[in-house]
Amino acid sequence: MSHWQPDSWRSKPILQQPTYEDKQHLKQVEDTLGGYPPLVFAAETRALYKQLGDVAEGKGFLLQGGDCAESFDEFNAPKIRDTFKVILQMAIVLTYAGRCPVIKVARMAGQYAKPRSGDFETIDGVSLPSYRGDIINSFEFTEASRRPDPQRMIEAYHRGASTLNLLRAFAQGGLADLHEVNRWNMAFVENNPLKDRYHDLATRIQDSLEFMKVMGINSTNTPTLHETSLYTSHEALLLNYEQALTRVDTLTGNWYNCSAHMLWIGERTRQLDHAHLEFFRGIHNPIGVKVGPTMQEDELIQLIDALNPNNDAGRLTLITRMGADKLEHNLPKLLRRVKQEGRKVVWSSDPMHGNTFKASSGYKTRNFDAILREIQQFFAAHKSEGTHAGGIHLEMTGQHVTECTGGAYKISDDDLALAYKTQCDPRLNADQVLEMAFLVADHLRD
Ligand code: PEP
Ligand code: MN
Repeated sequence: MSHWQPDSWRSKPILQQPTYEDKQHLKQVEDTLGGYPPLVFAAETRALYKQLGDVAEGKGFLLQGGDCAESFDEFNAPKIRDTFKVILQMAIVLTYAGRCPVIKVARMAGQYAKPRSGDFETIDGVSLPSYRGDIINSFEFTEASRRPDPQRMIEAYHRGASTLNLLRAFAQGGLADLHEVNRWNMAFVENNPLKDRYHDLATRIQDSLEFMKVMGINSTNTPTLHETSLYTSHEALLLNYEQALTRVDTLTGNWYNCSAHMLWIGERTRQLDHAHLEFFRGIHNPIGVKVGPTMQEDELIQLIDALNPNNDAGRLTLITRMGADKLEHNLPKLLRRVKQEGRKVVWSSDPMHGNTFKASSGYKTRNFDAILREIQQFFAAHKSEGTHAGGIHLEMTGQHVTECTGGAYKISDDDLALAYKTQCDPRLNADQVLEMAFLVADHLRD
């Protein structure tokens, strides 16, 4: 295989990229970003790698989630706080139920680029470049807004840095205190229409925390009860940005993409001979790849070997997004083959992207029951193949949006208009996603 360089992807075919008109401006931005400090530190990235290695060996569970696309407009403390809180609330439920460590990876602080099914969008006969995420262009349907602007990469960097700064403060500064987190869960359960269903688990967690307190294990003397670690991740789609933040780690001499701890390759850009594979094979971060329903066994083994030639546990997470109706037919054969060939991977379920449809109201949506069904089938497939269901990857927000139908509050097609705020795919809201955690808990206990 040819020699890897942070820019060796540039000689390969590449999909899902903007066309920047001003190449000089683009180069200037890349150089500027290349001189900026990294957003994460390689040693943190190695800690995540190690924890994911345990998950690949069957010990632990990966909880990954956040917006489909973060937006420059909705960039504020309450939004970051609410998503952070709900991730912690889910993690406490999953940790208790699974009796295993839950590794929290936010889809935040860099999730600004979006793949698109078409290069152009046509409205009333007018055709403009598609909206590709705030790191590239703007959502508004005007010629100026839709023109890709390299300067947006600088803006994305600063927003990513501020988001990360607040997340770190929350994680270390007291907001992550387990007693607090469970108090929020008790409030969630008290107010939920299905409270009888969730009450028992929440109370048992509460009792365990009380018991520890009586035994003298408390937030003051036990830092693990008071603070947490939260990692960041995004789809590394816009390689100009990703390359600029890729640096040699002085401790190990290895290359790390320091725009986030974990990066993944989307379903649409994972071709074996293309640019994204080339870029990813040289960085030492833990990485993910989306695996959709058309994936064949041989192709998957080739993909695994291209990205993880040394078969290191923790390096590679396969994020399956099959669709509730297709999983049963498509996933078990992949699990079987990967197990047979002894490849070490984390299997995680993205139950969102295979279950998107257009509601009668015209909104792009997903139904709570279909999402749950894909997760249930994911667990069932792993159980019957003797492999480890290692995680979930959700599009979610801590806010009270109405973008996915169903759940205890029975959001209907007609309700979608009430608070449909996403610029891209529909997210589970705070109540729906917590409910999902309580329901997934049933499977972790099996
Ligand atoms: C996404 O995660 O937002 C996404 C577009 O997923 P996929 O690559 O699986 O389609
Ligand atoms: Mn999405």
